[in-house]
Amino acid sequence: MTTVYNNNIMTALPVMEHFYTLQGEGYHQGKAAYFIRLAGCDVGCVWCDVKESWEADKHPKLDIECLKLEVAKTPAKMVVITGGEPLLYNLDELTKELQAAGLQTNIETSGSSPLTGSWNWICLSPKKFKEPLPQVIKAADELKIIVFNKSDFAWAEKYAALVSPICKLYLQPEWSMAERMTPLIVEHIKANPQWELSLQIHKYINVP
Ligand code: SF4
Repeated sequence: MTTVYNNNIMTALPVMEHFYTLQGEGYHQGKAAYFIRLAGCDVGCVWCDVKESWEADKHPKLDIECLKLEVAKTPAKMVVITGGEPLLYNLDELTKELQAAGLQTNIETSGSSPLTGSWNWICLSPKKFKEPLPQVIKAADELKIIVFNKSDFAWAEKYAALVSPICKLYLQPEWSMAERMTPLIVEHIKANPQWELSLQIHKYINVP
């Protein structure tokens, strides 16, 4: 079982990997970003492509100061905190330090744990396996729905009705189902032009 540390001040966090690359998905697609992938997830999506992130204990805990220094070795302006499920941890200290260093803080979350941290951009990607909390839904700047099967379109519309009116809306095919789902997504967007297409371009251009 995954422990939720959301109420504790965290000066070190379990990190599966961190790297400088291009954001491949959603609103910031194509922009340079430093990714910090926190380890630990209690959501359990059957199609998860980072299952090795699930067990936090299998990954080293890195000091926030050390992470900041690693980001500073690059010209990155934007840091994306992802997982795993990053909101398992209290991210107040991490985001405070990153923003103090002049960095934009973005998060990718399923919204399944309470929101902590100071964010320039919140990408909510709700999952059926553990639904998001209302607090995170309301705060989202971007709603990104991973389309694995046809029923996900109704799921997408359910959340589109709950987010703020200025929240950007994206449909993204689950990687292994992309061939089958992308044509359906295209038709859905044509019929519902408030949505946009998100592709995992980092997988097409072979960057992490
Ligand atoms: S929330 Fe993300 S990391 Fe967790 S199981 Fe789902 S896809 Fe994987």
